[in-house]
Parts: sequence; C-alpha cells; structure tokens
Amino acid sequence: MERINAWTTYKKREEKKVMDLGKAYRAFLDKGKTERECVKEAIRRAEQAGYADLEKVEKLQAGDRVYVNTMGKAIQLYIIGTEPLEKGLNIVGAHIDSPRMDLKQNPLYEDTDVAYLDTHYYGGIKKYQWVTLPLALHGVVAKKDGTVADVVIGEDEDDPVVGISDLLIHLSAQQLDKKASVVIEGEALDVIVGGKPLKGAEKEPVKAAILAILKEKYGMEEEDFLSAEIEVVPAGKSRDFGLDRSMILGYGHDDRVCAYAQIEAMLKIAETPRCTCCCILADKEEIGSVGATGMRARYFENAVAEIMDKLGEYSELKLRRALSSSRMLSCDVSAGFDPSYAASFEKKNSAYLGRGVCFNKYTGSRGKGGSNDANAEYMGRLRAIMDDNKVCFQTAELGRVDQGGGGTIAYICALYGMNVIDSGVAVLSMHAPWEIISKADLYEAVKAYHAFLMNA
Ligand code: MN
Ligand code: MN
Repeated sequence: MERINAWTTYKKREEKKVMDLGKAYRAFLDKGKTERECVKEAIRRAEQAGYADLEKVEKLQAGDRVYVNTMGKAIQLYIIGTEPLEKGLNIVGAHIDSPRMDLKQNPLYEDTDVAYLDTHYYGGIKKYQWVTLPLALHGVVAKKDGTVADVVIGEDEDDPVVGISDLLIHLSAQQLDKKASVVIEGEALDVIVGGKPLKGAEKEPVKAAILAILKEKYGMEEEDFLSAEIEVVPAGKSRDFGLDRSMILGYGHDDRVCAYAQIEAMLKIAETPRCTCCCILADKEEIGSVGATGMRARYFENAVAEIMDKLGEYSELKLRRALSSSRMLSCDVSAGFDPSYAASFEKKNSAYLGRGVCFNKYTGSRGKGGSNDANAEYMGRLRAIMDDNKVCFQTAELGRVDQGGGGTIAYICALYGMNVIDSGVAVLSMHAPWEIISKADLYEAVKAYHAFLMNA
C-alpha cells in the first residue's frame, strides 16, 4: 500500500517540466492574491486560448469554449463535448478565496498618533501568525458614481507595506501564559497604516494625513470605505522553497494551487472532448460557500441550463439528468504530513509532500460529520484512469480521527446526485500566511485533472 515519491519517477526532461510549471504557477500566485484577481487572470488566459463569454454567445456547438463570470469573484470554464449534455459533464472544481483579513466598513481610526485600519478576519486562521509580517492591501473601492477603483498597495518593491504589531518579548510575561487561541485576539488585528500628522489639521491629524493620501491616489473619501472590499494579505512574492527548489512557499496555495492545476488541465485540451468539460473556480469556500459567489449559489446549474439552451437541447428534465449523471473532482488541498507534528496525523492515511495528487474519499470531522463520502465504485474507476495515465497519486484523510477536520465544496455538488470525490495537493502550514507545497504534486495534479476531464 506504500505510494511512491513522484520525484523518483522523473527523467531529466520531465523534471524540467515540473520546475517550469512551478515557475508559471508562482507567477499566477503573485498576480492572484484575491478571488477577483484570480478571476481576472483566469479570463485573460482563457480568452487567449479562444474562450468566449457565454453571455455574448448565441449558439453553441461541440468544440466551443466559453466562460461564465460570476460578479468577478467566481468563474467557470466549459469545453462543449460531442456527446449530449444529458449524459453528464466532467467537472473539476476548486476555490480561489483564501484566509486573510478584510477591512471593516468603518475601518480607519487614530490612536496616540498612529493611524490604523480595523479588520475582521476571513476564514480559519491562527491569529498569532499574522502579526509582525509585511502586509499588503488588495481590493476595490466602489464609489457612488458607479466607478470602481482597484487598489493594490504593498506589492511593488517601492511600495510601502503595512502590518500588525506584537507586544515586545520583554513585557510578554502575561501574554505568553494565555492560550494560543487568544494570545492575539480578533479585535487586535488592526493594521498600522500611518504615523505622521497632517500639518494644520485640528483633530486626528494622522488619520487626516492618510485620508489625504487616499484622496490623492484613489480619489477616495472616507465614506467610500462603506462600499469597498479591501483584503489584507501577506505582502511580497512566492518563492522557491528548499535548497533543492523542490517546493514553493506562497500565500494562498489553499486553494489556488488546485485552481491553477485545473486551468492548466483545461487549457491543455486542444481537441474536442467526448464529454463536456467544466472547470469551476468558486469563492467563499473558506466561510462555508455562502453568498451569491459561493458554491451554494446556483451559478453552476444556471450555467449548465444556459449552455443546454444555446445547444438547442434544453429541458428541465435533461438539465437534471445532466447534473445527476456528471462526474466531479472537488479539487482542494489536503493536510500534508508534518513530521514535526506527527501526533496529529495517522501515518498510513496521510498525504505526503511529493507523493502526487491526493484523493480524499471523505473529509469531515467526528465520525465524518460534514463530509462527502465518495462511492467505492467511483474511486475504483478513478484508480483505473490514474494508472492508465501514469499519474502518481495517494489517498489520505485529514489528520487523525478526533483531532479536527474540515470540508470542501464536494458535498454541495453531490446534492445533484453526481459522483464527487475530493482530490488535491498536500500543503504544509495550511492557512498560515505562507504555505508550502511540492512542485511534483502540482505537476501530478495537472496530469490527474487532464486525465480525468478526458476519460471520466
Ligand atoms: Mn481549501
Ligand atoms: Mn482552507
């Protein structure tokens, strides 16, 4: 039952491909630090590869490529296959939101000559990991006149960065006695943004100086924060990790590594596939797949209905058949076995960095609660596809029984009655500002998703 390390299977030429893919993925990560930025990048690449906006297409036929943009925060790509849609689609789905801090609606304040932006964290984070790091601001400001300004501060080398302070060790006797979950509390995640008073300003002169900068750079008034979405994320680029450069240190591998592997797998398809292929990049997974851009919204089934209509095949019954006959890989990261924390894992059923794409038959916690438990028959079929296409894969569950757990978008798509299984890339330090993956696992994920789209 021992799975092999993918690196041992590569000859020189293939290892170069692994490294080149890692480099391209790093560029994607650096451009896509928010769901909006990832959607923009996905559209740019899809259009380059001949995909058209579904809204602008009147009729569809086999071989056509289209995308569906949901509010700029979620996106779906489709390649129309030769078989009728009611036979089902081959679907890969990942999420492009990542843990971070979001600015509150009334965020800016001044305290003792320092200006701060108040935040509310998004997704599951260990709050103590987010202090004393260079942070950047990414997002949009929607003004009353309908214009939307993009904001990115802290990524250019000449840009300033922002950040959150921590108490000095010299005075931390009390703080260090606290439980790790409250060492840094949610309300303490306030980002320092300024320290110079505006000359002549009567009250809150440091805040006034920051407002003057925002006005000059973005034409923004303080009230415009009411209709802004600004995310506070780790500043700076992803890096090769390890002296052998076998890994990548980056922000947001969860789940942009799977999102990227999906895009690559879709764009690799040059021919017209038998089954229609679909790639979903969803938002809001980290907070329960809620809202109009989360997987629980109906954009996926609406898109399939639209496509069916534009193929001249639409009926309510055929739509339901298409959804229930589909096959899906819910592509999300898995907890990489960490020898430094071995007690939290069960060695036989853990995901290991470098051993290829990982299938999780089930996720969930405490007796598989909240899981999508994939069917044995489906896993059997996937094993055959993976082996036929020489994909290195492994199987795992998320840590030791009763240690915790987690979920993905798998259970939501399974509600349509389709076969769904979780499959993704192992990550070290998941949900930390800087996470680690192996380049070999990314490479095997692309191979796996491509093989699945063409053969499932
Ligand atoms: Mn995830
Ligand atoms: Mn996550």
